[in-house]
Amino acid sequence: MGAPLPGEVMVDIALSVVPEPEEGTASIIAIENLVPAFVGKGEVNLNCGECGFRVAEGLEQASQLQSLVLICPRCKSHLASRL
Ligand SMILES: [Zn+2]
Repeated sequence: MGAPLPGEVMVDIALSVVPEPEEGTASIIAIENLVPAFVGKGEVNLNCGECGFRVAEGLEQASQLQSLVLICPRCKSHLASRL
């Protein structure tokens, strides 16, 4: 058998729903379409803590999106990846 394919073991993490941050305190990314804002080749998926929408896929590690606040395109929740 060959080496395991990348992405075989995926980790799904639910992001915390947070209040809207005050202006200037965080970088806010509003996801416009119903597709993940980031797609990479890592093993970490980030999902909306409210509706479960996948906001990022294939990150190397969840901390990649630290200090960002994402707005879910489906339920409009503010999501923080601070873990
Ligand atoms: Zn959502």
